[in-house]
Amino acid sequence: MMFKDVIGHQRIIQQLISNAGNHRVSHAQLFLGSEGSGTLALALSFARYLQCRDKGPGDACGKCPSCLKFDRLEHPDLHFFFPTAPNQLHKKDISSKLFLPQWRELLNHSPYFTYLQWLEKIGVENKQAIINAEDCNNIIRTLGLKSYEGPYKIIVVYMVEKIFYSAAPKVLKVLEEPPSNTLFLMVSENKDMVLNTILSRTQVLRLPPPSEEDIRQALTEKQGLPAHRAREIAFVTAGNYAEALRLTTESGEQIADLEAFREWMRYCYSRDADRILKWVEQIARTGRERQKSFFQYGLKIFRLCLLHNYQAHELLRLEKDEEDFVTKFSPFINHTNLLQIVEAFNIAIQHLERNANPKILFADLSFQLMALMRPQEQ
Ligand SMILES: [Zn+2]
Repeated sequence: MMFKDVIGHQRIIQQLISNAGNHRVSHAQLFLGSEGSGTLALALSFARYLQCRDKGPGDACGKCPSCLKFDRLEHPDLHFFFPTAPNQLHKKDISSKLFLPQWRELLNHSPYFTYLQWLEKIGVENKQAIINAEDCNNIIRTLGLKSYEGPYKIIVVYMVEKIFYSAAPKVLKVLEEPPSNTLFLMVSENKDMVLNTILSRTQVLRLPPPSEEDIRQALTEKQGLPAHRAREIAFVTAGNYAEALRLTTESGEQIADLEAFREWMRYCYSRDADRILKWVEQIARTGRERQKSFFQYGLKIFRLCLLHNYQAHELLRLEKDEEDFVTKFSPFINHTNLLQIVEAFNIAIQHLERNANPKILFADLSFQLMALMRPQEQ
């Protein structure tokens, strides 16, 4: 990953390069941006640039020994920490270190991946992953090592908002007074979830989502997509390049979401309790993170229906199948029931986060939806 591989963000890249040139590199930086905005891509290319032995005015060289080690993500002064949870293979004593092979594999494929894709990669999509106490200890241990090769020792923390609360103070201490030539490059998708004590010790770089044009261009030039398909995906994904990549490779999941949602709504509307319960059984078997993202998908569809009803067609960013469904489904959604539906979904998401039983959750929500979609017949 080099600056030239980052989608958009030219102004921020120039700023980072100029900071490096003026020796004004802040020792703790937080790359903050929504999913698919390229926070990890930017942090990595900056790390490479700083360590490169033959950097040009606008990017790392890509050829020096340091860059070659970055290509393999095996630079001895580059350390990764990220959320993990016990999986089938590793049931205890886990830490980021244990999952480095999977991490490198995903990252080598592309640093534009979603958090859910990471959890799926290590088989923990139904669990709450954290940057755990052992990771925090390892961060401190890493700081004790002297840097091997590069001018800097660089610690990349992915999704710093997932740091285990009671282990965080150790890390805070070193963030306050880090050893010289140590750099923390942290990545987050949600500022509200990052501990204030971390925020106050870091320089925050806010990344806006890449523009539709940037994404369209990247899809044509880097992914070799035909122009019409690149345009369609750039439009639909609205600044989320991770999602754009996912649609180029495995639009399967999106289609699966739509299929499942369409079925669910049909059964709720026709008040088919048997089928609803069978459907609930099915969705309850999928992982918790998957269920959460399914709820988010449902919320998106409801909002799109309302936009459709207001004839705000130019605001709709839909793929063909979704558009068909929204057109058919939107008559059942109005301003009043939408508010109640959105509230019920948000409550369900909260309950899911608190480990509620998904079967009960989906069944309960189904019966609420039945009433909300056809109130006149009650
Ligand atoms: Zn280089």
